Amino acid sequence: MKKNLNISLLPGDGIGKEISEEAIKVINWISKKFNFNIQVITESVGGDSIDKFGSPLTDETLNRLKKSEAIILGAVGGPKWEKLKFENRPERGLLKIRKELDLFANFRPALVFDSLINASSLKPEIIKDLDILIIRELTGGIYFGEPRGVEKIDKDNLRGFNTLSYTTHEIERIAKVAFETAMNRSKKLCSIDKANVLESTELWRDVVTHTSRKFPNVELSHMYVDNAAMQLVRCPKQFDVIVTTNMFGDILSDCASMLTGSLGMLPSASIGFTENGEKKAMYEPVHGSAPDIAGKGICNPLAMILSVSMMFKYSFNNQFIYELINKAVSSVLSRGFRTKDISSNGSQEISTSQMGNEVIKELENEKI
Ligand code: NAD
Repeated sequence: MKKNLNISLLPGDGIGKEISEEAIKVINWISKKFNFNIQVITESVGGDSIDKFGSPLTDETLNRLKKSEAIILGAVGGPKWEKLKFENRPERGLLKIRKELDLFANFRPALVFDSLINASSLKPEIIKDLDILIIRELTGGIYFGEPRGVEKIDKDNLRGFNTLSYTTHEIERIAKVAFETAMNRSKKLCSIDKANVLESTELWRDVVTHTSRKFPNVELSHMYVDNAAMQLVRCPKQFDVIVTTNMFGDILSDCASMLTGSLGMLPSASIGFTENGEKKAMYEPVHGSAPDIAGKGICNPLAMILSVSMMFKYSFNNQFIYELINKAVSSVLSRGFRTKDISSNGSQEISTSQMGNEVIKELENEKI
């Protein structure tokens, strides 16, 4: 792994700022311990950028992000900016980064830590040892399709519309990433679509099936999204790697997050490649800016810290640091420390910054 690294940190809005402080603690600890020179440059996105520069993402920021070796993002959005026109809202900043950097593959692992089994609303036997990975297509589908908008039909009747479209190329590249990922896990891949009613996802199914010929060792199955939502709650351990469209992946991964106990536990990585094959990636928790608890110092920073650990694995190919951070998080939970969202009888409820400090203490305790 290179010693000199240049990382962009976009705290964003709401709890994004609070969890970013805990991410910095972990990055600084790693940097010092392993003698790296990690430069973390803080940038603005979302409502924060609207307030400072009048736009959810400026061209200058975007250009700097394109040059950085990895991006970490907290969360964007909040009631303050909800009345803005759609194209000026905080979320457009995030979507623009994904689109401009072509971060088409979104990895959303749902991993249940043993000590958190009781934080899930499901029975322990359903989720014990759960370890699934949802790969969501991130730069196509209905969130980006054109035409889109709201138009007037007559005096008191409007029509809102969006377009769900996928090209062969878009499906092929995400399918290839999913098959390659499955090869390194249990060689099982489930593709989720709604091919019975949506032509665009009928194409999805055909292209995924066609791509499977290059990966004969991976067992491919297909499932309709409505059944998948039910199966995720009924028997989630039947899945290993899931690949799906942008919107279905968005919804199913939030559902999967509750298997793990809280949205505050789910990290993600969004990955793309430049024309010359260089990897570009952004790491962010799956949750949003949680305006209901922002500023109270009670949010869970672990999804953000686990996103940092994914950065070491996927951007810097450092499995050792990835496992080190994950183990520290697991140990903190085993010792009974919990933020409010995952607290239960017998656990010790601590604040956001105390949780970050406990992770650092565990890192100090690891034998390296
Ligand atoms: P949310 O994820 O912000 O919150 C949903 C619920 O989960 C809330 O009750 C919240 O308190 C809780 N929660 C979320 N993260 C938590 C954490 N780390 N610790 C403890 N509890 C946590 O979703 P929402 O309420 O639907 O959206 C709020 C805002 O966030 C909106 O403006 C939305 O557009 C935005 N959003 C942004 C992203 C992103 O930046 N990637 C993702 C989703 C939503």
